[in-house]
Amino acid sequence: MPTLHVAIIGSGPAGYYTAEALAKRGNVHVDIIDRLPTPFGLIRGGVAPDHQSIKQVYRRYEKTALSDNVRFAGHVEIGRDVSIAELRELYDAVVLATGAGEERPLGIPGENKAGVIGSAAFVGWYNSHPDFAELAPNLNIPSVAVIGNGNVAVDVVRVLAKTEQEMAASDLAAYAAETIHPAPIRDIHMFGRRGPMEASFTPKELGELGEMTRCVALVDADQIPETVDTEGLEPKEANVRVKNLEHLKAFIPNQPEDKPVRLHITFYARPVEVLGDAKVEALRMEKTRVEAGQCVGTGEIYDIPCGLVVPCIGYRTAPIKGVPFDEWSGRFLNEDGLIASGLYAVGWARRGPTGTIGTNRPDGIGIAEKILTEMPPSGKRGREGLDELLVERSVKIATFQDWKKIEAAEMAAAKGAAPRSKFADIDEMMRIVRGQA
Ligand code: NAP
Repeated sequence: MPTLHVAIIGSGPAGYYTAEALAKRGNVHVDIIDRLPTPFGLIRGGVAPDHQSIKQVYRRYEKTALSDNVRFAGHVEIGRDVSIAELRELYDAVVLATGAGEERPLGIPGENKAGVIGSAAFVGWYNSHPDFAELAPNLNIPSVAVIGNGNVAVDVVRVLAKTEQEMAASDLAAYAAETIHPAPIRDIHMFGRRGPMEASFTPKELGELGEMTRCVALVDADQIPETVDTEGLEPKEANVRVKNLEHLKAFIPNQPEDKPVRLHITFYARPVEVLGDAKVEALRMEKTRVEAGQCVGTGEIYDIPCGLVVPCIGYRTAPIKGVPFDEWSGRFLNEDGLIASGLYAVGWARRGPTGTIGTNRPDGIGIAEKILTEMPPSGKRGREGLDELLVERSVKIATFQDWKKIEAAEMAAAKGAAPRSKFADIDEMMRIVRGQA
């Protein structure tokens, strides 16, 4: 039986779940291509450093990575080392599992001032992502504004507010710890443009904001409803809202003087302008109300002094030359994952930045099924052809075994209770791979 050759671009959850589903099915060879020499995408570069239990899912991906018919081809960049058109020539199917790594703009005046740092960059910075390791944000400031009511906003707040001790068992970048822990930040504002019942954070994450050693979560009692209107809601969604409300109600008695750092959780407020000369000095907010689920401005304006603004308002997929892209939604133009014959999108690159890590599993299984139904093996050269091309171009891939060398060095460098000390420099990682470190 001829072999089906599939290339998956991106080694995050969506990529690995797709590979897992394909690898179980007969004569299929899967190459997972990533521009970094490190696998697992969002698990390594997005999931919060103090959420180590969530990161454990990498063990499942590792099993797939080590199966005979799956290969990790790291340190290979689409557009620089090989094009999508070339991969489509070589493989029966190409799957874009590239996630959503770009910022969504706020679309307000002043958002390009120094000190406005989107969550893609800020989270990447504290998670040792090579693209953002040099960010060097100025945290020598008294006040920060975090925009958004999703779990990313909650992550950013927690990482800024937790103590060194609370982060001891995390894999927070050492340079980030050195900047965050001595920072004189005393006020963190988290703004939701709609109300508490429209917020997209989840109860476990919201609850953690009430358990921090040096930071007290404050809410305005007038913004917290007495009960939740669950009519018409799916039971799961209703449960989330009920539990979120329980947490918010528990924050009502908290007082600003309870702890040295204050987290102001403010609803019904949207940013309208970033104020300051070259750098952020304040954020101009407009009070809002919710009408038919939509946020509507009231015209009532106020300013919040702050030296850093972190918009956590969702992400966009990075476009790839030659691949149809929907500018409005910020992801590849696709119909149920199909972009063009033999070209697919999966995960956030398909459906946008929503859902949990587990949401990518059915997504990956669905795309694998589609490929197996729609793309019979056609005698393409797959891996062999790619390797030939990369040798011609002097591109040396980082294999999964190479990654294991990097991982071993990161674990060996870990201090105290930390699980690893991540490298953020690709050249340094490649020196370890080559035994030159
Ligand atoms: P999200 O859940 O979509 O939240 C985005 C937030 O930004 C919403 O509150 C949204 O408000 C707000 N927003 C959007 N545009 C805005 C604007 N122009 N001005 C002001 N506010 C604006 O996205 P996310 O937090 O980036 O998370 C992405 C996905 O990853 C989610 O599915 C999340 O649950 C998941 N995640 C999970 C975890 C975890 O499980 N621990 C951790 C991190 C992320 P509206 O609702 O009004 O649009």
